[in-house]
Amino acid sequence: MSAQFVTRTTMRQLYADATHEGHLRGFAKNPNLAFPLFEGETQLGRRTLAPALRPGEISVIRMQAETGEYTQSTTPITSGEVDEDLEFFLNQSDQVPTALAADVIVGEGDRIFGAGGLLVQALPDGDTVRLEAIRASLRGGRFTECLSSILPNRSAHDLIREFLPDAKIIDALPLKWQCRCSMEKVMDSIRLLGPTDLAEMIEANHDVVVNCDLCASRYVVTPTEIAKIFEAQIRARG
Ligand SMILES: [Zn+2]
Repeated sequence: MSAQFVTRTTMRQLYADATHEGHLRGFAKNPNLAFPLFEGETQLGRRTLAPALRPGEISVIRMQAETGEYTQSTTPITSGEVDEDLEFFLNQSDQVPTALAADVIVGEGDRIFGAGGLLVQALPDGDTVRLEAIRASLRGGRFTECLSSILPNRSAHDLIREFLPDAKIIDALPLKWQCRCSMEKVMDSIRLLGPTDLAEMIEANHDVVVNCDLCASRYVVTPTEIAKIFEAQIRARG
């Protein structure tokens, strides 16, 4: 038997979601990318993901808070830079004049030193010439430079003031990583299985292990707990 080691250079999927409360989470399908340093890059600082993300598409799913209805739209990935392609999506699909820059700064030991983004959108009949000027000021590495100099001791407001000196801060929503997985949700998904599948799982007499892709939490369901679900299903069927 021989093992084959393949150097992977595609991300396959980069997933992120956010709630109105400012809870964020996400994962990379292939987190073990092997890249050389590209021109102008150093071990510490900004690293491009573009070669890992092209070709592909950005698919955005939104849930309306009031109705719970989902809408989905898709645009192609062209540059491979997440902010530029998302900016294209917002301009193209949402038809909202948008300037967006976001970046991640890598620190010692390949750990994330800091990350930040700036999204500027024009109101209906807003000043799109100013928006173009803001977009131009975010490009060419200036946003990354500012982000690096602002981290880690200053706030997002400093970033806003850097690019929009006349901006008024009306409100602030702290963002935090927050996964919504739970043992309850794992049990609910097992309850969706039919009695035949459950009987097979009881017969196998192994723990069922569910790993969350987003936060790496590990949930273990024992055969005894599966047997209880099975019995409840049988009783419910009369
Ligand atoms: Zn989770």
